[in-house]
Amino acid sequence: MRYHAVVRLTIAFLAATAAYAQFPSPTLTEVTTKVSEHVFMTTGFPNVVYVVGNAATLVVDTGLGTANGALVARVAKRLSKGPKLLLTTTHYHPEHAAGVGGFPPETILIRPAVQQQELEKEGEQTMTFFKNSPQSAPSLQGLGPLRPPDITFESEAKLELGGGLTVRLMFLGAGHTASDELIFVEPDRALITGDIVQNKVVPSVASSGGSFSSWLTVLDKLVPLQPRLVIPTHSKVGDASLITSEAAFIRDMQSRAAALKRSGVSSSDAVTRLTEVFKTNYADWVANTDWPNLNSMTGFVNRLYAEIR
Ligand SMILES: [Zn+2]
Repeated sequence: MRYHAVVRLTIAFLAATAAYAQFPSPTLTEVTTKVSEHVFMTTGFPNVVYVVGNAATLVVDTGLGTANGALVARVAKRLSKGPKLLLTTTHYHPEHAAGVGGFPPETILIRPAVQQQELEKEGEQTMTFFKNSPQSAPSLQGLGPLRPPDITFESEAKLELGGGLTVRLMFLGAGHTASDELIFVEPDRALITGDIVQNKVVPSVASSGGSFSSWLTVLDKLVPLQPRLVIPTHSKVGDASLITSEAAFIRDMQSRAAALKRSGVSSSDAVTRLTEVFKTNYADWVANTDWPNLNSMTGFVNRLYAEIR
């Protein structure tokens, strides 16, 4: 029993390492794109979003490590119209949150209370995993403890960045992690989705508290917002159809996995079969170069399988 557990862990780790080897470089660039009237982004691992108001600028996600964080803070300063700098993070994973040390000390850091708790509980383990990746390690060298937030909120915080630019920070339930945050820029109808809605990317539950069934509930709550733009962290900007595509993909694979599990198919055979289905039915996802989608199917199917009772 114990031997099998070790083997399984090793395989999971190797699969994850293989996936990391294909991740885009964590080094961000200062090249910005204007997404909508108040929203700018830098494309990279991850995409970082800047919401610019007359009084304050809100940055969403930090980049991996202090140097990337400092670059993001520089871009924010360049874009800013007002003196205040606010920072929030879509989830606690290092490429989204571990660049906070590069921001000026007066930056106001705000995140859901549950996200801070999850960072304190699981942050170190995820950090070790990233530090073991040859690609991520250099950006994290010498990184000390991450500073705590200035403001936390339970389920929603509303910010006013000046000139009527209102932004809703929302925690709607577990998904990719136990504490994903979604950000809605109201006048632009722009929804910043973290890892919860991507553009043709196989989703992953990457925290002990994450869950696909809860993820589907979160997606259902996003539909009524009717965003004009959906801005994901690891893939291209799209419209509201990304939300329904994300939900349809999870539901499709979930029901196929449930049928296989009911008929006694092992999880490793399910991975093989559903990867074949993926290649045939989701060829445009397979071809998406934003993410190593084929590698991600193993973790995706295993997690779906584990959740089916
Ligand atoms: Zn993540």
